[in-house]
Amino acid sequence: MREAVIAGNWKAYTTSDVCRALCGGLRERLDSIDRVEKVVCPPFVYLMLARDALAGSSVRLGAQDVHWEDDVAATGEIGPKMLRELVEYVIIGHSERRHQFGETDEMVSRKVKAALAAGLRPIMCVGEKLEEREAGKTEDVLVRQTRRGLEGAEIPDGFIIAYEPVWAIGTGRAATGEIAEETIAVVRREVASLLGADKAETVRILYGGSVKPENIAEFVSREGIDGALVGGASLKVDAFAGIVRETAQAKTRP
Ligand code: PEP
Repeated sequence: MREAVIAGNWKAYTTSDVCRALCGGLRERLDSIDRVEKVVCPPFVYLMLARDALAGSSVRLGAQDVHWEDDVAATGEIGPKMLRELVEYVIIGHSERRHQFGETDEMVSRKVKAALAAGLRPIMCVGEKLEEREAGKTEDVLVRQTRRGLEGAEIPDGFIIAYEPVWAIGTGRAATGEIAEETIAVVRREVASLLGADKAETVRILYGGSVKPENIAEFVSREGIDGALVGGASLKVDAFAGIVRETAQAKTRP
């Protein structure tokens, strides 16, 4: 049985006061909900603050990116070892990094390997752009991103992949449950072809793209969808707590 994960990506939003308030609100609302791994990923500069604000809580901490090397002349980057002192999880290959900052499959692969070697838990993002879906290239894109991201890495059980169609991120236009389920099955098949069916069964695959409390059940009630990566709705205590609560309920329904 794969444990569900709900991870919040705060992107470049919040201030230190908002970060403190969000952490306080989330620990109050989420600590009583189990059977869901709850993760928040604040901006780098607030990680220390968030770590202190979440100390002793079941809400875990992640970062939004990581460099592939430690102790290196790479201005502005954060290496995996220094990150591991503060967080457990790290988002890698988010579509905003791929498409706004030119992150390639090769960079994603190096980051996944370096993060794992440092003891971090990557949340590796994959997803097609609208024009790729419309051109019938969704499967090709996902197979390529999944394979190149994982190839050559020692993938642990429970590894997390987030399927995030680019056209659904921050648009208010979520995919349907059916599309998410079909596409996630493509990703899981590719993981199986690369790492074997047993390993693929342990890998958690999340959906991401305009998730909110009102639509999360549509995704997580489906067999192959193990949770969500949440952007906008993770910045509101009520919305994020609602998503976690709905997920816990959906995953305990017989
Ligand atoms: C994201 O940034 O990963 C995301 C899914 O954003 P949103 O929930 O706002 O669509």
